[in-house]
Amino acid sequence: MNLCLRNLLLALCLAAAIAASTRTVAAEPPLPPPHHVHLFPPVRTGLRNATPPVNLQYYGGPVIHAGTMYLIYWLPPGFFMSPAYQTLINRYFTDVGATPLFNIVTQYPDGSGPPLNASTLGGTWVDTASYPRAGTTADPLLDSDIGAEVLHAIATHPGWNPPGPNTAYFVFTARDVHSCIDASKTACFLSEYCAYHGSFVSGGVTVLYNNMPDAGTNLSGCSVGTGPNGDPEADAEISLISHEHFEVVTDPQPNVATAWSDVDGFEIADKCAYTYGALNADNSNVVLHGHPYRVQQEWSNLISACTLSLPSSVGGISEPTGLTRPSPGRLTGSPVRARGTRETDAVVAALTLVVGIAWAKRPRSDKR
Ligand SMILES: [Zn+2]
Repeated sequence: MNLCLRNLLLALCLAAAIAASTRTVAAEPPLPPPHHVHLFPPVRTGLRNATPPVNLQYYGGPVIHAGTMYLIYWLPPGFFMSPAYQTLINRYFTDVGATPLFNIVTQYPDGSGPPLNASTLGGTWVDTASYPRAGTTADPLLDSDIGAEVLHAIATHPGWNPPGPNTAYFVFTARDVHSCIDASKTACFLSEYCAYHGSFVSGGVTVLYNNMPDAGTNLSGCSVGTGPNGDPEADAEISLISHEHFEVVTDPQPNVATAWSDVDGFEIADKCAYTYGALNADNSNVVLHGHPYRVQQEWSNLISACTLSLPSSVGGISEPTGLTRPSPGRLTGSPVRARGTRETDAVVAALTLVVGIAWAKRPRSDKR
């Protein structure tokens, strides 16, 4: 607990320092840290799906209706990403909206309507600032560092959309850079996750974000098979991206305001992780706006199965009734507490880290 507390305080200090040049931090002393981590237990074998499969249920939280995505490549001198990594990832985010693949999300509405079959790449940034830690397994980046980097990117780009319910940030770190949720190292890249998405509250605003370690750090740990674009790292990462992208749209605030999840706490992509279906000759399984990709399937309630397409838009989907909450056994840590900071204090006087780890289980076999 002391480590968690120390890390949260560090995150608060970092966030405050980011904005200190333009604002005055409120004199109010920080409240005790409400660090709250929600862990989905790892499943080493088999799909992360109930047997027999069950559909996603709606738990009342918001979804992203028309998302704008911002990509942060955190690449200090001396660190590496594969040659086409950024180009292919940027291309994927440009291609994915308005496709039969992304149309799958339109069947998961909240009270304001469904997510649209649309996703905008709002901007990209290569940050060459040093990592605050070595990034080794002995001295990994922490979730607080990822959150601080998101705030750093936001502060550096006044032209970007402000954080909000339709904005999400993806932080890409370099090959061989490791991260853990906190200094206890009980939940770390490769051993417990390949990527995750979550939210935190900064200045009274919810920030949606994704931690995206480089799949090339251990290609067999986070991917199955090869992709169509001649860059194994980028191809593997794009499937992880698709996993997190679909989940941040359909369940952007896991465990804070859960939207769509199954009764076991598995989200749209968890239920189909590492299943790809039939592959084309070039190892792609989808072609999005003319470009080939190999991405995992996503869960479709309409067919109660994993799929790569929803051919036409779906309207009038009513919320299921008789919902039950996800198993309390999947919640860890203390309840999230509201912070007493003023809404006007846009500086990060409070940084509430709430993470929903999107577990990407270790690959078992290609299910095609
Ligand atoms: Zn997931």
